[in-house]
Amino acid sequence: MTAIILLGPPGVGKGTQANIICEKLGIPAISTGQIFRQNIAENTELGQQAQEYMNRGEFVPDSVTNPMVEARLTAPDTEAGFLLDGYPRNLDQVHVLRDMLAKHGKKIDVVLELTAPDEVLTARMMKRAQEEHRSDDTPEVFQRRVEIYHEHTEPIATYYADQDLLVQVSSEGSVEEVTQAILDVLSNLGA
Ligand code: AMP
Repeated sequence: MTAIILLGPPGVGKGTQANIICEKLGIPAISTGQIFRQNIAENTELGQQAQEYMNRGEFVPDSVTNPMVEARLTAPDTEAGFLLDGYPRNLDQVHVLRDMLAKHGKKIDVVLELTAPDEVLTARMMKRAQEEHRSDDTPEVFQRRVEIYHEHTEPIATYYADQDLLVQVSSEGSVEEVTQAILDVLSNLGA
């Protein structure tokens, strides 16, 4: 069982790396943003609850996000492990995640933080905006998401560093170089 959290600011390449790493390890990549986007596309009740927050670049309320993650983490395909991309994003979610895993005798093994300077993030966002047409990839909303990341999500990295779970990986190389750096970290940990 390998339980991984992938942390990092918007545009750092979490989704890309999550999919590659999970395919190699044979575990599911669980992206809360992706689950919300799919629900919005299907116009479900969850999608309707999430949409206005996402369009502003704000967090979807914990009362919506936490139960959704708990339901996903009880699915049988998470038995061998999982990688969380985009969750937890604030300290309350960190505590909720710890408690929900503990109920099932599980815990997080490693927290990988992808890092890149702000100008690299903006350039990647602009490229993604052309390719994927995400409604939250406008310059204003993206800026808001970066601000919220600094304010609410960066403290999580400190929390996990205090627990000796945090490993930082620079995301400035090619996709392949970053993947290799992540795989090296995981193999050093025996994952
Ligand atoms: P992402 O795909 O990870 O960039 O997430 C896109 C958007 O989904 C975020 O800007 C939030 O509006 C929402 N979202 C994703 N994950 C969470 C979370 N853990 N807590 C609250 N909102 C989230």
